[in-house]
Amino acid sequence: MSPLVVPVPAPSHGLERQAIIDLSAIANNIRHLREIAAPAKFMAVVKADAYGHGMIQVASTAVAAGAQWLGTAHVTEGLALRAAGFEVPVLSWLHTPDTDFTSAVANEIDLGCSGWELEHIVAAARELQLPARIHLKIDTGLGRNGCSREDWSALAEAAMSYQHQGLLRVVGVFSHLAVADEPDRPETDRQLERFREAIGVLEAAGAHLEVRHIANTPATLSRPDSHFDMVRVGLGLYGLSPFEDRTSAQLGLVPAMTLQTQIALCKDVPSGQGVSYGLNFISEVPTTLGLVPVGYADGIPRIATGGPVRVNGVTYPVVGRIAMDQMVIDLGPNAHEGFAPAAVPGSALGATAVLFGNGADGGPLVEQWAAAAGTLNYEIVTRISQRVPRRYVGGAQ
Ligand SMILES: *Cc1c(COP(=O)(O)O)cnc(C)c1O
Repeated sequence: MSPLVVPVPAPSHGLERQAIIDLSAIANNIRHLREIAAPAKFMAVVKADAYGHGMIQVASTAVAAGAQWLGTAHVTEGLALRAAGFEVPVLSWLHTPDTDFTSAVANEIDLGCSGWELEHIVAAARELQLPARIHLKIDTGLGRNGCSREDWSALAEAAMSYQHQGLLRVVGVFSHLAVADEPDRPETDRQLERFREAIGVLEAAGAHLEVRHIANTPATLSRPDSHFDMVRVGLGLYGLSPFEDRTSAQLGLVPAMTLQTQIALCKDVPSGQGVSYGLNFISEVPTTLGLVPVGYADGIPRIATGGPVRVNGVTYPVVGRIAMDQMVIDLGPNAHEGFAPAAVPGSALGATAVLFGNGADGGPLVEQWAAAAGTLNYEIVTRISQRVPRRYVGGAQ
């Protein structure tokens, strides 16, 4: 047996790995975005467990910070909000024939309707003898959900006829933008024009709309002419930038999630040491490796070798393959290109290792992991798995 060469630090009884969610950052982001969107109303989009931040905690923070609406993709998510006691309007917009429309109507969840859902929603309303609240969705160019322009008048007429029968109320009309994150592209103008046309058709059919809405985070920030009566903001709540060329800080936003763990092993290796499956990294000089105990089971993309990990104020790149539970950083002695020289005296065992955070002190950002993985900041935070405990700071809870 090899001798125990490093003193093992006493446990700090912190969490071994955690996603720290700063609810005060979320509240401040919402206040900032609400000011930009005003006088339009504000829907906080909390689908997908609030992009990995925790749906109930984020929704509470959002409502307290003045969000008038909550938005989810699935009815099941909307029902979870109602079960948690939220009474503000909730809109859910992505359905299948197996969606529980009856529970949705019974719980006064507003339903997006692109066409086929209308009969299902009406059947639920009949059964419950309770009018459904619907938002008709027009496809203005994204080519995903939403009613085609050719079918729009027919859908508008059918919905208004059910409204006259007391089975539903058309409270909203909405659409979704395809390229709002690239403000120079002309397609957004075309989508907004088609949206205005669709509103005209629906109003001509007799609808008195409470909310007309099309803006997501990038449109809220870059296109005041897209705000209409309400904006639907997801990414911005969480303090992340939807634009390639603008940082959170430049937009006045603070990233809310910090992903951190502790170094699980620190050891000196000779030159020629291969690292992780495939031995894709081989040390060129004697160096010190740090084992970071998070991997793709925790939601870090396996492809993201080179992603940054901050230890004792210095950022190191992940070397070798990212595995299910762990990854390795090279703590030096030599600096890696683009990274500061090693600053870990003695053993780093137990040292806090930050994968990303709010960027204060020049710490690593979600966007660097997105670049390493060939994806967007949206995906990095949303896929942080349930194996990583969330810890909430800065809020009432
Ligand atoms: C997810 C989603 C949003 C929020 O988009 P962000 O870019 O995160 O603000 C808005 N509307 C719809 C229909 C969505 O699916």
